[in-house]
Amino acid sequence: MENFKKDNIQYIKGVGPKKANLLTKLGIFTIGDLLEHYPRRYEDRSQLKMINNLTDGQVENFKARMMNCAESKPRRGLQITKITVGDSTGTVQLVWFNQPHRKKIYGLGAEVLVTGKVKKIYQVEIQNPEIEMITDMDTLEAGYITPIYAANESITQRFLRNLIRQILTEYNATAEILPPIIIKQFSLLDRKTAFENIHFPLNMDVLKQARRRLVFEELYLLQCGLLYIKKQNRSNTIGIKHGPDGCLVKKVSEQLPFSLTEDQQKVLLEIALDMEDTKPMQRLLQGDVGSGKTVIAALALAKTVENGYQGAMMVPTEILAEQHYSTLSNLFLPLGIRVKILTGKLPKRTHEQVVADIKSGLVDVVIGTHALIQESVEFQYLGLVITDEQHRFGVRQRAKLQEKGNMPDVLVMTATPIPRTMALTVYGDLDVSTIKQLPPGRKIIKTYVRGSDRRQLVYDFIEKEVNSGRQAYVVCPLVEESEKVNALSAVELYDELLKTELVNISCGLVHGRMKSVEKDLVMDRFYRGEIKVLVATTVIEVGVNVPNATVMIIENAERFGLAQLHQLRGRIGRGDHQSYCILLSDNKKPETQERLSIMAKTNDGFALAEEDLKIRGPGQFFGIRQHGLPDLKIADIINDIDVFLEARQAAEKTVARPESFDMLRPALQVRFGKEFSMIFSS
Ligand code: ADP
Ligand code: MG
Repeated sequence: MENFKKDNIQYIKGVGPKKANLLTKLGIFTIGDLLEHYPRRYEDRSQLKMINNLTDGQVENFKARMMNCAESKPRRGLQITKITVGDSTGTVQLVWFNQPHRKKIYGLGAEVLVTGKVKKIYQVEIQNPEIEMITDMDTLEAGYITPIYAANESITQRFLRNLIRQILTEYNATAEILPPIIIKQFSLLDRKTAFENIHFPLNMDVLKQARRRLVFEELYLLQCGLLYIKKQNRSNTIGIKHGPDGCLVKKVSEQLPFSLTEDQQKVLLEIALDMEDTKPMQRLLQGDVGSGKTVIAALALAKTVENGYQGAMMVPTEILAEQHYSTLSNLFLPLGIRVKILTGKLPKRTHEQVVADIKSGLVDVVIGTHALIQESVEFQYLGLVITDEQHRFGVRQRAKLQEKGNMPDVLVMTATPIPRTMALTVYGDLDVSTIKQLPPGRKIIKTYVRGSDRRQLVYDFIEKEVNSGRQAYVVCPLVEESEKVNALSAVELYDELLKTELVNISCGLVHGRMKSVEKDLVMDRFYRGEIKVLVATTVIEVGVNVPNATVMIIENAERFGLAQLHQLRGRIGRGDHQSYCILLSDNKKPETQERLSIMAKTNDGFALAEEDLKIRGPGQFFGIRQHGLPDLKIADIINDIDVFLEARQAAEKTVARPESFDMLRPALQVRFGKEFSMIFSS
C-alpha cells in the first residue's frame, strides 16, 4: 500500500497542490494514471506542408517562424492578438481573442509548429491555433507523430506532454510486470518501450506494437484477477455437498402446470451436479426474457431446502421481489417450505421479525432486494444464493450475499445477452449455462413501428384486445435519466389517456416516484386483472410477469435503446395468446427507423444485442464499471478480440502456477483497487 502514496502526482517535480488538483479533474491521481492517460489520437506531423500549399477549411500542420506581432482593442472587453508567421513560401496570420499572454510566450524569430483550421480570406488566417516551439528539445524528440490528449484550459497539451515525458525519463514507473515467458511467447514489447511509444511514437509501426502490448497487459491482468477469484472460490474450499434430488424437489416439479423444456432440463442438470459437488457452485444462467429461468431457480431452492439449508434470492426491484415471492409462495407453501420476503419497505417490526427468523432458521427461502445484503441479515445455514437480473448488480454485491453463508452455492441469472468477450470479462469468474429455446406454444410477438398519425388506430386496438379479455401496457417516453421527469410524463400521458383514448377502460399508473404501497396496490390490481391497461415508466422493465397481457405500446420509442426495448417487449408474449408490440415514434431519422425496424424483424435477444453493438459501437455498450470491475483504459473489448483471447490463454497459465501468480499480486492490487485488495494480498 505504501507504493500508492508515493505514487501520488503531488510529489512529481513541478506539480504542486494546485496543478495536482486540476489534474484530478481529468481523472489523474497517480503517476500510474498519468501514464495511462493515453492519447486520444495522434497527429502525423511528418507530412508538414508549406504555407503556399495550405488548403482552405482544412486542419493543417506546418512549420514556420515568428515574424511580427500586433495587438488591438477594437472595443471594450475584446482584445485581439495577431502574430504573423512565415516560411519561404508565404505568411499566415495567427489570431487569438483575449489571450494577451500569447505574445509573451513566443519570441519573435522562434521556430514553431502550427496546427489549426485554415481560413483563406484576403490573406491566410488561423484562429486559435495550437502552437509548439521547435527550439524546445521536447518537440523534436517527440518525433512528428504528436500525441493529442484529453486536456482542458488549465491543463494544456503541452503541460501534459512535458509531464508525461518527465515521468518516462525520471521516474522508474514502467518496470516490467509481465512474466518474461509471456512476453516472449506473445512477442510483446517490453513495458518501458511500450509506454514511451504509446505517448511519443517513433513511427506508426511501433505505435501499433505499443498499443498491442498495453491492451494485452490490461486484459491479462483483468483476466488473471477474475480467474484467481474463481479459483479461490472453489479450490481448497469445501462447500456444501447437496444430496441427489429427493421427494421435495419431485413434488415441486410435479406441481408445475407445464413440463420443462429440453434446455431447462439441461441447465437444471448442470446446476444439480454443481450443487451435489463439494466445490461451491459459481454458475451463470443466461436465457432470453421469458425463457423460464424462475422455475429453475425454484427447483434449485427446493433442492437446498430439502437438504436442510436455507436459500436466498436477490432481485433488483421491489416489484420483481414481490412477483417472485408470489410465484414461489404458490409453489412452496403447500409443501411446507417457509418462504419470506425482505425489502426496504417492510414495516420496521415485520422487517425485524423476518431478519430474526432468517437467523434462527425459521425461514427456508427468502426473496429480497438489496435489503438482503445489509449487515443485520444473518443466516443460520445458507446453502444457495441466487441473484436474478445479474446485470443490475456488481461483482461485489454478489459477493456480499455469498459471504452471508459458509461457501454456499451461487447461481446468477441474467436475461441480458452480451457478446462472448464481454461475458468472459464481466462473468469471467463463472461457469455458464444457457437456455436458448422458449417454452412451447409461444407465439412470436408481432412488432410494428408506427407514427403518431396512427395513434387513434393503435389505441382502438387496445380497446379491442381488452374487450376480448386481454390486458395491455403503455410505456412512457424516457425523457431523461431522471425519475422525476419520467414520472411527470407518465402522469401527463395517463391523465390524457383517461380523458381520450382510454376513457371507457379501467387503467392504472405506476412510476418510480410513487410510494411503494401505492405501487403495490396498482400492480396487484393489474395482476388480478382488475386493471386492464397499465401506464408505466420503465419500472416494469425487469421481470414483471402477467401472461394475460398481450399488448405493449411504447410511446416515443426512439428514446429507448434496443436492449431496453427488448426487455420491455419481454413483458408480453408470456401466455398462449398472440401478443403485439407497437413502437410509436415520429422520429424519421434513418438511424432511428433502422433501429426500430430491427425490433420488428427479430424476437431474438442475442441477435438484437449484436445489432445494437453494430449500430452503437462497442464503447457505448455495457460499461464494465457497472459490474464493479476496473475500467478498461485502452482495450476495446469488441475489436481487440484477438488480443483478448491470447491474454485469456496466458492468464489461465499464470493463475495455474502459484509462483507466477504471486509476482503479479502487487500489480493486481493497483489495477483492481482498494475493494479487491484483500483478495490479492498474499
Ligand atoms: P424469465 O426467464 O424471463 O425469468 P420466467 O421464468 O418469468 O422467464 O417465465 C416466463 C413465463 O413462462 C412464466 O409465466 C412461466 O410460468 C412460463 N414457463 C416457464 N417455463 C415453461 C415451460 N417449460 N413451459 C411453459 N411455460 C413455461
Ligand atoms: Mg426472470
